[in-house]
Amino acid sequence: MKEFESFIRDIHDFPKPGVLFKDISPLLANPKAMHDCTNALYDLIGDERIDKVIGIESRGFFFATLLANKFDAGFIPVRKSGKLPYKTVAESYELEYGNGILEIHEDAIQKGDRVVIHDDVLATGGTARAVCNLVEKLGGEIVQCNFLIELVFLNGKEKIQEFPYAALFKY
Ligand code: AMP
Repeated sequence: MKEFESFIRDIHDFPKPGVLFKDISPLLANPKAMHDCTNALYDLIGDERIDKVIGIESRGFFFATLLANKFDAGFIPVRKSGKLPYKTVAESYELEYGNGILEIHEDAIQKGDRVVIHDDVLATGGTARAVCNLVEKLGGEIVQCNFLIELVFLNGKEKIQEFPYAALFKY
């Protein structure tokens, strides 16, 4: 997968000073990179029965839909507060400054569903943890938290340590 790391572009000081933003746009624009990364993310999960793949707004949506398709599973969006049209269950989480709220449709997961949670980047882990809480509230079983990129130095895996997790590119 080393060949695809060049498709992940570092943007300094975005969206604010001090942040090194991992921009996956070049990777998304390259069909072979998209194809091979989807397969590699799928291989990280292994030969499992998966009922639902969750994508976290918004960059988690891209590969989560492709993964859902490969598993013949449903795709479930988790979105920021106020974006989902039907009845929702909400979870607040810590941002660098203040709190955010994430929501899922209350009927998105059935009790016992086997769920993969996907996002582009695992940073501090607050976002992923909030989504794990949402899945548990609805009675789903988390098979894996799955990421394209892990920013290892931020130690986000500690926040999701009860759950299996995997990432394709580690920095
Ligand atoms: P966190 O809750 O700190 O783990 O942040 C994860 C969320 O923020 C993911 O949805 C990412 O898309 C986004 N994110 C955090 N840090 C970065 C970064 N350095 N580059 C790109 N996206 C990031």
